Amino acid sequence: MKTIIEPFRIKSVEPIQFTTREQREKALDVAGRNVFLLHADDVIIDLLTDSGTGAMSAAQWGAIMQGDESYAGSRSYYRFESVVRDLTGYKHIIPTHQGRAAERILFHNILKPGDIVLNNTHFDTTRANIEVEGAEARDLVVAEGRIPSAVLPFKGNVDLVALEKALREDGDRIRLVMVTITNNSGGGQPVSIENLRGVRALCDRYKRPFFLDACRFAENAYLVKMREPGQEHRTPKEIAQEIFRLADGCTMSAKKDGLANIGGFLAMNDDRWAESCRNLLILTEGFPTYGGLAGYDLEAIAQGLVEVVEEPYLRYRIQSIKYLAEKLDAAGIPTVKPSGGHAVYIDARAMLLHIAPLEYPGIALVNALYVEAGIRCVEIGTVMFGLHADGTETPAPMDLVRLAVPRRLYTQSHIDYVAEAAIEVAKRKDSLTGLRITEAPSALRHFTARFAPVGVRETVGAATR
Ligand SMILES: *Cc1c(COP(=O)(O)O)cnc(C)c1O
Repeated sequence: MKTIIEPFRIKSVEPIQFTTREQREKALDVAGRNVFLLHADDVIIDLLTDSGTGAMSAAQWGAIMQGDESYAGSRSYYRFESVVRDLTGYKHIIPTHQGRAAERILFHNILKPGDIVLNNTHFDTTRANIEVEGAEARDLVVAEGRIPSAVLPFKGNVDLVALEKALREDGDRIRLVMVTITNNSGGGQPVSIENLRGVRALCDRYKRPFFLDACRFAENAYLVKMREPGQEHRTPKEIAQEIFRLADGCTMSAKKDGLANIGGFLAMNDDRWAESCRNLLILTEGFPTYGGLAGYDLEAIAQGLVEVVEEPYLRYRIQSIKYLAEKLDAAGIPTVKPSGGHAVYIDARAMLLHIAPLEYPGIALVNALYVEAGIRCVEIGTVMFGLHADGTETPAPMDLVRLAVPRRLYTQSHIDYVAEAAIEVAKRKDSLTGLRITEAPSALRHFTARFAPVGVRETVGAATR
């Protein structure tokens, strides 16, 4: 059979609330044209993120009932630890309430002002947690990783020539080399095992520690199996196990490939770093055997990490992303090629050539998709990455709109609806206008900034002030 079906039946359903175009226009206006500020009940299909939004399995809900809520040494922690250790091989496994907590604890312990962290592409919370320590987050993705239309298998790879140059020239200032698998902010593109081996070899030569940002390790492992010569006969789990063992530790959000609604962990081999990380964990998250999570959360994550590397699940997961990408492609909508692990990324800059990058073509498209059909997605572009620590603003390398697909949540007809809406918006793309920011915080501004269309006077009050 050629049709790849959802490898599950639905046991429990959650109704969707429908809205009219007029209701959505009003809701978006109240939200300052920032879809992060909408009430989720006003959203029909929510593709804002695949983080913590997936459906858990019957086995996970069953495991939740087995949760041991002992403050210290709970049975659920030991189950969690044994699953994570089997997968990663790391000596110290420290639970946290989500990925950014792992980042904050790691970076606060190891970075000082002037230090540098290298990565293929830093995710937004990773970058922010490095910069808040006064350190530099430097991206070294291969050049083709910045060209949305280039069809290549591993556009998340690290530029090893640039990595070696940085290691040679910046020496002791480089505290850590990281690789994000898959490369979320660069379009969900995978990293090859060959490239990760190259990073390991350079880190050994220059004696620098190497960590993974492992949030989507299972999707990366499956894409390696599909695309990397010599890997096709291995299981996704075997590939993931090798990848983890190439690094010295990882940060992880269990809200992604943990198949859970909350949780994460920090894991590493270094005893000294682990001790200082545990001390900070106790201060800000909780005792080291629960790290800000309930015992039942640890159970859900442990079971999720078992399910996420199963091949029928990964085959369906990757296919469902490809299905949406192919529909948009057939309609001539420019997307990041080839489709990656968890999302389809529309190249809003290429689609809306009449909107300058500093007038946020990504936000214009996000807003149009919401008004058209109640679909919520996110700009990954100049609003997210264009503002620098010194207060200046420049266009981000790309202006993308990410349609992230939650795990096991939506069916094929939901995805057909999304494709139809995108195609309708594309037909009248020349009528979309750019935006300007009217209010924004100094860091992570994309979450709370408010916008107004360019060329439209602010409000009567402001104009007469
Ligand atoms: C989601 C994510 C994070 C942060 O994890 P949270 O659980 O959202 O705090 C870090 N890195 C990458 C690549 C991510 O996708």
